[in-house]
Amino acid sequence: MPEHCSLSSVTNLDYLAPSRLRELQWGKFETILKHAYENSPWYHSQMQNLHLKPSDIKSFDDMCKLPFVTKQVLRDTYPFGLFAVPMDKVVRMHASSGTTGKPVVVAHTQGDLAVWTEGVERALRGYGVTVNDILQNAYGYGLFTGGLGLHDGGQAIGLTVVPISGGNTERQVMLMRDFGATVISCTPSYFLHIIDKATEMGVDLRDLPVRIGVFGAEPWSDEMRQKIEAGAHIKAYDIYGLTEICGPGVGAECVHQNGTHLYEDHFYPEIIDPDTLEPLPDGQIGELVFTTLDRFATPMIRYRTRDLTYLMTESCPCGRTIRRMKRIAARSDDMLIIRGVNVFPSQIEAALLQVEGTEPHYQIVLTREFGGLDEIEVRLEVRQEAFSDKIGEIEAFQNRVRHVIHQIAGVNAKVSLVQPGSIPRSEGKAKRVIDQRVI
Ligand code: ADP
Ligand code: ZN
Repeated sequence: MPEHCSLSSVTNLDYLAPSRLRELQWGKFETILKHAYENSPWYHSQMQNLHLKPSDIKSFDDMCKLPFVTKQVLRDTYPFGLFAVPMDKVVRMHASSGTTGKPVVVAHTQGDLAVWTEGVERALRGYGVTVNDILQNAYGYGLFTGGLGLHDGGQAIGLTVVPISGGNTERQVMLMRDFGATVISCTPSYFLHIIDKATEMGVDLRDLPVRIGVFGAEPWSDEMRQKIEAGAHIKAYDIYGLTEICGPGVGAECVHQNGTHLYEDHFYPEIIDPDTLEPLPDGQIGELVFTTLDRFATPMIRYRTRDLTYLMTESCPCGRTIRRMKRIAARSDDMLIIRGVNVFPSQIEAALLQVEGTEPHYQIVLTREFGGLDEIEVRLEVRQEAFSDKIGEIEAFQNRVRHVIHQIAGVNAKVSLVQPGSIPRSEGKAKRVIDQRVI
């Protein structure tokens, strides 16, 4: 475990003087680059092809000389091609959930796990979680990093973990009530489902002790946050991470809920232009790239996340010196191109939740007549009481939704209203888009 990792002092790392932070980062970076070069044939050959040695990288400004790692590289080297330690040093493997294809494998040494756990611990402490809390961990356990990540971070604080994993929603509600969980962790879309199930069971989450939600693994809009906070009387906080970099706990919001602080002393962030691959300055939106500064089993040097965001320039009122990124609203893979207009599902979500009477349960269906133009349909659940049965009122409502979607996302969508409960609920990452286009 790195020397700075003692449990009582982890949060101090959030407040290092910028010069000290840079020094810490650079020291770690030199070590990890050398480690990757010497122990991972992939990094070695890539750098050799570019006639680069680790000593040619003399400052962070030189990083742009180094090649990127992409998900494709991880797939091409599947399963163990990027490992940079012998298997007897690997204590655990995880794999990405495969939202966008074949899973990729990421390995952890004992020290790598300590770094990861520290990230989750810092996230939880940042929300105000303490040893007295009871954490109902409804992220899936297994190869997916959510379950074990939150589990280890919670245990590091010494709170009580209820390792319920995802699914069996009635039991989630029952245990939340009976055990008196004060913190819940799961995907935001799954928590909406838990709220609905509780209502069905006659349990009002607003009356329970639960006070903090730890939500991540998928994009969620501020409108969704408001629905969640009002529906359960909790504070809903963002936690960010990805398997390749470790899992949840690469960054998290503080109590100000305005941007996700990145644990820069472990995960060095860059923003690049996804087309030119040139680094972009703070404040400009682009693709997030990470270098893991002290993970040894599968070090990632300039890993392209495909997540789109920008690094915020203003300091946060909480006083943390580690930088914030704008909460991830989109990944580049999610971008839909409808008749030449770029649309992200999160824009549709933000739009429809602005209309009075809408529910946060929706699906986007893409269709294309053979050789014809793309059509986008938004299926939306509505509460019966939102309007009377009068056809005129229903049409007016649909028009309002269509209008706001057009304003925010710039597309003309067909809006279909569907029965409450008819859109499939997810227990993990929600599947928002159904692509029925005949290509
Ligand atoms: P997969 O790429 O198969 O979904 P992961 O389970 O590793 O694999 O998911 C990581 C991805 O999930 C991130 O790259 C990001 O797109 C998304 N994600 C994770 N946390 C958040 C968050 N708090 N907000 C938005 N998106 C998130
Ligand atoms: Zn802050």
